[in-house]
Amino acid sequence: MSSRSSETKLTLYGGVDEIGGNKILLEDKGTRIFLDFGKSFAKRSKYYDGLSKPRLVNGIGDLIELGIIPEIKGIYRQDLLDLCGRTSKEDRFADAVVLSHAHADHSDYVSLLREDIPIWMGNVTKTILESIEDERNSDIEFEITKFKKRPINKREVPIQRKITTFRTGDQIDIDSISITPVHVDHSIPGCYGLIIRASDSTIIYTGDLRLHGNKGELTRDFMKEAADEKPDVMLCEGTRIDEAMQSSERGVFDACKFLLEQAKNSLVFADYSYKDIDRFTTFYKVAKETHRKLLIGIRAARYLDALKAADPTMGLPSVSDESIGIYRPREVHTSKVDEEFYREHTNVWNHSDVKQKESQVITSMSSYSADELIDIRPTRGLYIQSTSEPFTEEGLLDEERTRRWLEKYGLKKVHCHCSGHASGIELVNIVNVIDPKVVIPIHTESPDLFPIFFGAKVKIVKESIEL
Ligand SMILES: [Zn+2]
Ligand SMILES: [Zn+2]
Repeated sequence: MSSRSSETKLTLYGGVDEIGGNKILLEDKGTRIFLDFGKSFAKRSKYYDGLSKPRLVNGIGDLIELGIIPEIKGIYRQDLLDLCGRTSKEDRFADAVVLSHAHADHSDYVSLLREDIPIWMGNVTKTILESIEDERNSDIEFEITKFKKRPINKREVPIQRKITTFRTGDQIDIDSISITPVHVDHSIPGCYGLIIRASDSTIIYTGDLRLHGNKGELTRDFMKEAADEKPDVMLCEGTRIDEAMQSSERGVFDACKFLLEQAKNSLVFADYSYKDIDRFTTFYKVAKETHRKLLIGIRAARYLDALKAADPTMGLPSVSDESIGIYRPREVHTSKVDEEFYREHTNVWNHSDVKQKESQVITSMSSYSADELIDIRPTRGLYIQSTSEPFTEEGLLDEERTRRWLEKYGLKKVHCHCSGHASGIELVNIVNVIDPKVVIPIHTESPDLFPIFFGAKVKIVKESIEL
């Protein structure tokens, strides 16, 4: 696999010395597959913040110029190439993209790819991406399942990408490459590790994973199946390899329940990513056990509905559950769809309901909606910060501004979180069970720790250099 004469080649166009932005090119007998095609927050944030974006007028030209996406011919959308002056037709370079999960750093830049590249993803990943797309304005950096060519002609119908969904254990055959996705536990539902059989080697791609979530057994299933293959190479995420201590989702539940029991007469705000359904479930259970209602926003409510429909086996509560309420913010204009959604539900709360029943709710509130505090004016409040990943899209307010909002309204802050990623100890366990011949660190800022844990079998790679 690593020799020049071998038939299988790997090239990493992202996820090297950075957390996320995974774009791993696998070539085998002339077939080219990308494992993930994510947005690199590290590269993008050098030039843009969460609100600023590359100029549409230059298509993908700005992203290539700034090194945010790789310069590869034959993979990008022609409408976006036309805008930056690359008008001559390019031959298709890649035969497929296989996504591990729906996080932006793995899937968002599928948005920029030409529509004749087939995309494979888990059933739940498709539901999640469609649900997020429904809530957003059109944006060339996030139109994964469908898009309209730029410049937009309103009458034109959107182009639907060629998407095929899979479930755990399915076999995906693409020419000489065969891929088996196996479920893993992570901080968003529907995540997969990939077992890849190519002509002269077997490769394991972990995606993002952990053992300490509510469904650690999923990762154990993956470890077992991967070990059975006696793999040659393992592309192993190492986001938290530098973390020795390990907290768990169960620990977050216990701590939050304790906090709620102490803060009996207070309004409690929980700040977590609504896409992290494990964390939602944790706060839902805490609300139930402390006889409060968990108030969620309309986006989170629709997301919950969509996931429940996509995979009933997840055992998620209904949006109309007695321990859940839908929080309706003050708005000058409410869209027709939103209005209908509120009308269809009897458990809708507004700021004055919250004000009157402060100690009966947990308000799930990401920092972007901190301005609701102006209307709620809590008399006494606790703010549980339950996020920490460096790439939350929701967190438009930085730490300093969040601190000012909390200070202004007298909210006391505590931090209670466990990561979506395996700790160093868990990674040792995962790699030892799978026991590959070669370990390649990806999705980490600490690749140098890998040789300390795994010795000579570690191969540190550079970006864009063939293996
Ligand atoms: Zn990631
Ligand atoms: Zn992830």
